[in-house]
Amino acid sequence: LAQSPDTARGFTVCFLTGRVMCVVSLIFPFSLLLDLLPPGVCSLLNPAAIYANNEISLGDVEIYGFDYDYTLAQYSNLLHSMIFNTARDILIEQFKYPEGLGKYDYIPGFAIRGLHYDVQKVSCTKFSLLGLVFHCVLVLVEMLSVIELYGGTQHIPLYQMSDFYGKGPSLKQFMDIFSLPEMTLLSSVIDYFITHGIEFDQVHLYKDISDAIRDVHVKGVMYKWIEKDMEQYILHGDEIYAVLNRLVNHKKKLFLITNSPFSFVDKGMKHMVGKNWRDLFDMVIVQADKPNFFTDRRKPFRKLDDNGSLQWDKINQLEKGKIYKEGNLFDFLRLTGWRGSKVLYFGDHLYSDLADLMLRHGWRTGAIVPELETEIRIINTEQYMHSLTWQQALTGLLERMQMYQDAESKQVLLEWMKERQEIRSLTKNLFNPQFGSIFRTFHNPTYFSRRLVRFSDIYMASISCLLNYDVNFTFYPRRTPLQHEAPLWMDQLCTGCMKTPFLEEMVHIR
Ligand SMILES: [Mg+2]
Repeated sequence: LAQSPDTARGFTVCFLTGRVMCVVSLIFPFSLLLDLLPPGVCSLLNPAAIYANNEISLGDVEIYGFDYDYTLAQYSNLLHSMIFNTARDILIEQFKYPEGLGKYDYIPGFAIRGLHYDVQKVSCTKFSLLGLVFHCVLVLVEMLSVIELYGGTQHIPLYQMSDFYGKGPSLKQFMDIFSLPEMTLLSSVIDYFITHGIEFDQVHLYKDISDAIRDVHVKGVMYKWIEKDMEQYILHGDEIYAVLNRLVNHKKKLFLITNSPFSFVDKGMKHMVGKNWRDLFDMVIVQADKPNFFTDRRKPFRKLDDNGSLQWDKINQLEKGKIYKEGNLFDFLRLTGWRGSKVLYFGDHLYSDLADLMLRHGWRTGAIVPELETEIRIINTEQYMHSLTWQQALTGLLERMQMYQDAESKQVLLEWMKERQEIRSLTKNLFNPQFGSIFRTFHNPTYFSRRLVRFSDIYMASISCLLNYDVNFTFYPRRTPLQHEAPLWMDQLCTGCMKTPFLEEMVHIR
């Protein structure tokens, strides 16, 4: 598993390099470090703000569309443990994997979204282990061994990379929030095989684990847990009700396109919004089979009756209050006339929910990225601010002082380089000790980050962030300086800073 930047040349492997010693140099007095920070710079960002990649005015949006899982329905982390345990048991009981795997539990916070996994290349026989480092469970790979695997380079050519939907000939990108337990299970099983000296086939292993995880979803086990204990699994229901109700009161039209089945969505929406939730929506489409829904014309819409039973009649119009199954976006556009930038669709999956809408169909898009909340809380800490400021100051020093090449200066430069590397790791580890932030790998935006910018007009931690903004609010993206530009303009401290919640009357709901 690797966190990687997206570069024009292809892909650079940044595998784990071992336990990092986080020692900040004592050469530079701490009081001076504090002086580098502008006053009031900590706790500046509001985790409930909405961030813009493109300018968009909500006043122009007449129709709001939503995905369901992890967009309207936010699930608690307990779900990940349940998925992990169930898939692990499927491996043991159905796929006859060793019973010793039963000792592995889910490790919250081990993996992050957006990681790449090389299905073919990473053979256990070539691993160079540094031992069991994280919670005595999961293996680390030494950087030199990884470079050896890739023929002496960190670079992977574009043609070997994942395709548009994160599936390449050998590299798979994990983009789904549900893939967190999958990545942890993959790492656990590999750990078991390596520590017990058991030879295994990497390709079979990957497929078996994917199948086990898929079974948890497809066979409906997961739906049953959630339906049985909504209170425990579904978060922020009252805020979702407030968002939807407010949009309808402002004469906006709402629709839902989800891959989940009707009975599951119906129970969840009743829990969050109330038994009359369908009155708020003009259109509800279930089991839509996204992303194929957006690209493939072949499946026509089918209608469900009020009990969720399938009807056979041909669909010539989409009626308010009815439930539809399958279908495709081309028929949806033809029957509703809801085209272009007056439609704003929210989803959590950058590929399955948003990519085609942005690139092919011209709807506006909003990405739900729950990780934003935790990451912004970390960015707001003094520790992060100090590390980042010192790291940038050291980088500036190195850039300016590199021309001094006498022996004494060279020694100082070397120490600065070492210290900079330590602080870079320290800053990265604040987010996740294994893989860092989902948005940056050291100074570069990650592959995930670039896709987020490309496929979403706005992004936020949760749909409920909409409650902080007027329904006619215009989002302006920050003017990020290009490499040859000086950041001379005054908007660098605007988006997300201090001014939210913007609406006093909505404070009670947050
Ligand atoms: Mg979803």
